Parts: sequence; C-alpha cells; structure tokens
Amino acid sequence: MNIDFKKEIAALHDETIALRRDIHQHPELGFQEVRTSALVEEKLKAFGLETKRIAGTGIVGVLKGGKPGKTVMLRCELDALPITEDNGLPFCSVNPGVMHACGHDCHATVSLQIAKILAAHRDELPGTVVFMFQPDEEGAGAMPMIEGGALEDPRPDAILGLHVWSQYPFGKVALAPGPTNASSYYFKLTIHGRDTSGYEPEKGVSPIICAAHVLQAIDSMQAFEYNTVNEPTLITVGMIHAGNYMINIPDSCEIQGSIRCLFDGEKEVHARFKELVETVCKAMRCTVDVEIVCGNTMLTNDEGLYEMGKKVVEETLGADAVLTKGVRGMGGDDLAEFFNEGIPGLYYMIGMGNPEKGTTAQHHNKDFMVDEDILDVAIELQMKMALRYLEENC
Ligand SMILES: [Zn+2]
Ligand SMILES: [Zn+2]
Repeated sequence: MNIDFKKEIAALHDETIALRRDIHQHPELGFQEVRTSALVEEKLKAFGLETKRIAGTGIVGVLKGGKPGKTVMLRCELDALPITEDNGLPFCSVNPGVMHACGHDCHATVSLQIAKILAAHRDELPGTVVFMFQPDEEGAGAMPMIEGGALEDPRPDAILGLHVWSQYPFGKVALAPGPTNASSYYFKLTIHGRDTSGYEPEKGVSPIICAAHVLQAIDSMQAFEYNTVNEPTLITVGMIHAGNYMINIPDSCEIQGSIRCLFDGEKEVHARFKELVETVCKAMRCTVDVEIVCGNTMLTNDEGLYEMGKKVVEETLGADAVLTKGVRGMGGDDLAEFFNEGIPGLYYMIGMGNPEKGTTAQHHNKDFMVDEDILDVAIELQMKMALRYLEENC
C-alpha cells in the first residue's frame, strides 16, 4: 500500500493530542464507558466503518478493504481506574475519583486515528482490519466481548495489542515470543471463627490469628514450592478486613489478593492454594470459604507475529529500540482471552518513560502521566504491523 505514514500521522498530530485529552478528561470505570464508547462509535461510523456494540460499552468496527485478504484485529481498551487525579493538568479528569492512570485513553486514540487513516485508503487495503474497543480490561471485560461475538463475523486471523509503558524509556519497544504475561486470578478467603470478648479468648476462636498463619503459609508456598526460574508464581495479599472493636475477637476475617503464574500450571497452583488454606484453617479451629475467580489467563505471543513485529520496530525506530530481555512479567492482560480462542496474537509495550517530562511514575498511580509524543509512534507501529500482516499473508 502506498501510504506515507509519517506525513499522514503528522497531519493528524494536533487532532490526535486533542482526542486523547478529551478521552483523558472524561474517564469512566469498567462497563460504564458510556461517553467514551459513544464517541468511538460515532467516529468509526463517520469514517465509514460498520460497527457493532457488545457487552454494553464494547465497540467493534470493521473496515473491509477493496482487495481480498486476511483479517487482522487491533484491540484496545476503554476503561479507567478508581483513582483521584490531582496533577493540575489542564485536561485533568473531571470525574471525581476516576482517572485514566493506565494509558487506555492513548490506546483508544491510537486505534481511532489508525481507523481514520486506513479508511481513507480503503480501496488499496488487502483484507480487513477489525478495531475492537474493549470495556473493563482492569476487571475481566474480555470474556463478555468474546461471548457477545467480538471474534465472529469476521473472525480475525491475527490480533495485535499494544500498551504504552512508563517503566521503559521513551521509544524503546518491549516484545518477546511465547508466554509474556502471567495469568492473574483473584481470591477471597472468608475465615470463620467464633466471636468472644478479648478478656476470655478461650471462649471463642480468633479468625485473625488464623489469618496470620494463613498468610505465612501462602507466603511459604509461593517462595518454596515452585521453581523460581521455570515456574514463576506470585501470591499477593492486598486487603484484610476483620473486627470493629479493639477489645473483642470478631467472628470472621476476610483476606483478598491475587495469584499469578507465568507457566502452564495455574490449575495445580490454585488447587494447592485451596488445600493449604483449608488445612491451616482447620488446624486453627476455623472454617473457610475460598473463592478464586479469573482476572486473566496467561498471555502467549505467537512466534511468527513476534518476528514480524520486531522487524517493523527495527525498521521504524532502529535496532536498539527493541527490548527483548527481561520483558516477561507477572502483570496480566486479558488480551490473553482473545489469543486463547485459538487466534495468534502479539502484545507489545511501547516505552514512554521520560524523566525530563515526569512520565516515569508507575501505571495505576495517581502520579501517572503520559509523554504524548508517544502517540504518533504508537500509531505508526501498530498501523505498520497490521498492514505488514495483511500484505505478507495475501
Ligand atoms: Zn492497567
Ligand atoms: Zn492497561
């Protein structure tokens, strides 16, 4: 296809920034992305794409090219996080307690601008590009999209997903073949003891003391029961709630956290976790309800798409822009659910950490900020990868 990528992206630059700021200023939580999805839908329709709405706020736009070919899907997310933004930016969130602190505003912008550019070249396009805007990535929005038919009619032959990433330097792109992102399951343990006054503890059973033993046991499990190199496993506790009076022993204690695995053995890990928790609680004279729900499964990149993506990054940003070592991590992404439907996929991270611009704060943090110069880079990489896939697989 005859596209002068840099020129066309540069021509849209001001509009790209304005669009990202508009989405950023109006963040919405998972499955509540009403304004954002309406904006996306309206724009896709204006570009001439057929659209369908799935799972309430999810949008899929289909751009059928003028030439026959394969179908490639570009996936992005719409949701923001329950964090208060207070950084004085002129386009700071107007929705109290909600903030685009992961960069999904950037991803939605990138996809929309690619749709706009490619729609103008529709006749030359060898195949179909599907733009999927997914709700609630931070929860588990992928499955409702799949159940609602996001991967049907047309069914994609490949899926590409990107993430801007503040923890990599600006312009470095991290990608690797095989498993790159851990599965992440959320657990809730409700430990039941028996309440009593603190001066006669023998008349009750403390779920708090039991919880202390449970914490030690699961910490030992993750540290000593799995091979650190080949069976990466991480169990983290983020919430403990019990009691409402300092001199009484309460009835129950609730522990919530996550279990992450970056190897193909999560079912066994979950079973062992449940067995261990139940055994410890029994030994401490408590009972326990164990709930484990899926946040996302393990994400595995396709080898061929990885090779293609790496080449595109090298050609666009130079060979030293590619980071392949140390890019696998315990952070999850429910993009994995789409790959697990038997469709090869590639997920890659585009670094935008820039100390001079103050864009090195972690994601999911109130200080998170984006170096907006990354938007044009992301549009170029993602669009080139999509076209390269279609051109190489005609
Ligand atoms: Zn996130
Ligand atoms: Zn994210």
